[in-house]
Amino acid sequence: MSVENVIRSVIEKNPGEREFHQAVREVLESIEPVMKKHPEFEKAKILDRIVVPEREIYFRVVWEDDRGEIQVNNGMRIQFNSAIGPYKGGLRFHPSVYRGIIKFLGFEQIFKNALTTLPMGGGKGGSDFDPKGKSDAEVRRFCVSFMNELYRHIGPNTDVPAGDIGVGGREIGYLYGQYRRITNRFESVLTGKGMNWGGSLVRPEATGYGAVYFTEEMLKTKKETIKGKTVAVSGSGNVAQYAVQKANQLGAKVVTLSDSNGTVYDPDGISGTKWDFVMDLKNVKRGRISEYADKFGVDYCEGERPWKFECEIALPCATQNEISAKDAKMLIDNGVIAVAEGANMPTEPGGVDLFIENGVLFGPGKAANAGGVATSGLEMCQNHIGMSWSFEETDRHLHNIMVNIHKQAAAAAEKYGHKGNYVIGANIAGFLKIANAMLDQGQS
Ligand code: NDP
Repeated sequence: MSVENVIRSVIEKNPGEREFHQAVREVLESIEPVMKKHPEFEKAKILDRIVVPEREIYFRVVWEDDRGEIQVNNGMRIQFNSAIGPYKGGLRFHPSVYRGIIKFLGFEQIFKNALTTLPMGGGKGGSDFDPKGKSDAEVRRFCVSFMNELYRHIGPNTDVPAGDIGVGGREIGYLYGQYRRITNRFESVLTGKGMNWGGSLVRPEATGYGAVYFTEEMLKTKKETIKGKTVAVSGSGNVAQYAVQKANQLGAKVVTLSDSNGTVYDPDGISGTKWDFVMDLKNVKRGRISEYADKFGVDYCEGERPWKFECEIALPCATQNEISAKDAKMLIDNGVIAVAEGANMPTEPGGVDLFIENGVLFGPGKAANAGGVATSGLEMCQNHIGMSWSFEETDRHLHNIMVNIHKQAAAAAEKYGHKGNYVIGANIAGFLKIANAMLDQGQS
């Protein structure tokens, strides 16, 4: 089938799954030149196969809230592609979770994981459970129930989930505890674990740090650095927090943070004790970003995103489709020179086109935020050899991986006639690795 026909068939067979359609279209359209050069992929129906998950698991999660009332949520794990390694990808707990979101994330994960050069296939999972406003005991009861079903589908050489939106260290702890209890095995079945029970240093920092390392690599191609630049960051969760820390360490000034209620704008920069405040607010008190504005007397824009504020670098680190074409235009008019996606698919297709047409350095999520899963891969590696690396050593590995991902994406873009287009470059480099592995392994 031609690229257009495969996209049409995905839309027909997966009705209503808008985000999945969007992710498939983005990848497939950009690999058209590869398909022309490789008739063997067409003959083996690689495209028809790659858009269908190897396995989809849906289950019911029943748990009891603090008032003794029974609650029911959905649970799912989509095991998309294991051609180059065990399924690997996060779990998302958010009320918006449904098939289309987990499938888009699982599909993206295939190519992202391939770019890291580590042996990891693509998968993703989650639930429409909302940890916000729940007590620790409720979150624990939910996680126990979720794992009571998930445990039979995962394993250190089968599928190794990690965190994502709504799933941080607390949730990974409860999930891991239940896995260990049921199976009587202490093994590398989740990543993002606590430091004294198999976790890796740098894993919490990895996605945010990696996005900034990727930004540095893009800037180098224009003989620029992040030092002295003004940066707008969206979100205030795990990825945003460490993107801010690394940007500060490299001499930039971060002026925004947000959550699903609004944006704070601090023209003096979110660093030092202000950054400490955010860490405590979001990870300990689990409060709202508006409290930052109350505390430091800065502007808070209810219901708004950060993109109207002047910046040279934008790091969207919250969620999918958070930069529209209109937002992209505002950023460009205000002088943005680089955008790196800490989140998955935060830029709508119209926004991506505008950035690229206007020569903005644009790092797509599957390249720019691959540092998280790469460090999960490093966590698995340390678990397998029974050792832990120092912060410096792990960070050095992460940095090298990000430099290498940039190199691969840039080289593929240039080879296929789209110099400087990291969207096309990342898609092609990731796809080639997977397609060749699928070809080698016959009709799987
Ligand atoms: P967290 O749950 O720690 O933080 C998510 C942040 O995004 C919060 O500030 C949250 O605000 C905000 N947010 C969530 N949904 C929405 C929404 N619909 N509209 C506006 N803001 C929203 O998640 P992470 O930081 O881990 O993940 C952020 C992004 O990075 C996601 O796209 C994820 O897939 C991606 N990613 C994460 C990796 C990781 O290692 N954690 C790895 C690679 C990608 P609120 O508190 O109000 O919900």
